[in-house]
Amino acid sequence: MNMDLQTGIRWMELFNEDIQQNKDYLTQLDTPIGDSDHGNNMSRGMDQVIQAIEAESPDSLEALLKLVTSTLLSKVGGASGPLYGSAFMGMLKILKGDNTSSWDKVLRGGLDSIQKRGKAEVGDKTMVDVWAPVVKSLENKQLTHVVIEEAVEATKPLKAKKGRASYVGDRSIGHIDPGAYSSALLFQAMLKSEEK
Ligand code: ADP
Ligand code: MG
Ligand code: MG
Repeated sequence: MNMDLQTGIRWMELFNEDIQQNKDYLTQLDTPIGDSDHGNNMSRGMDQVIQAIEAESPDSLEALLKLVTSTLLSKVGGASGPLYGSAFMGMLKILKGDNTSSWDKVLRGGLDSIQKRGKAEVGDKTMVDVWAPVVKSLENKQLTHVVIEEAVEATKPLKAKKGRASYVGDRSIGHIDPGAYSSALLFQAMLKSEEK
C-alpha cells in the first residue's frame, strides 16, 4: 500500500475514532490480565494526537510521524505509550533515511523498534503478535482485514511472557491481549484510510 500525508492524517483520524469507540472494550480486555487502563491510555493518547495535528498542521508525512511519536511518548503512560511511541519513531527513522521507502519497509522499522524497546518475541502475547504478521502480510501484498482479525484472536490461547499480563502467568491464557487488539484497530484503520 501507499502512504502520503493526507492518507496518514486520515489514518490517525480513523484510528482515533476506533479507539474512542472501543475504549471500554480495551479496558475490559486489560482487566483480567492487566490493570484496566489500556482504554484510557489509548483514548487520551489519540485525543492528544488529533489535537496536535489540528494545532500544528504537519506539512509532510515525516512531520506527521514525528508529531505522533512525540505526542505518544509524552502523553501516554504505561507500557503502551513508550511502545507505540517507539513504533512511530522506528517508522520515522526509515522514512528519514530514504523518503522513497515502501510503506511495508517503514512499518517493518516500526516493528523492529517495538521489539528493541520491549524485547518481546512473536508468541509472547503482546502487540508484536499483531504487528509481525501484519508486516509480513503487507510485504507479501496479502494484508486483509481477516489477517488482522485472525492475528488478534490468535493471542487468546497464548501465555503472556512480557508486560503486566506475564505477572498472572497461566491465568493469562484464554484472554485476548489488549495491546494486540489496539494494534489491530491501528491496522484496520490503516486499510480503511487507503480504501477512501
Ligand atoms: P500497562 O501494561 O503498563 O498498564 P497498557 O495497559 O496501556 O500498559 O498496555 C498493555 C499492552 O502493552 C499489552 O497488552 C501488550 O500488548 C503491550 N506490551 C506490554 N509489554 C510489552 C512488551 N515488552 N513488548 C511489546 N508489547 C508489550
Ligand atoms: Mg494496563
Ligand atoms: Mg498501567
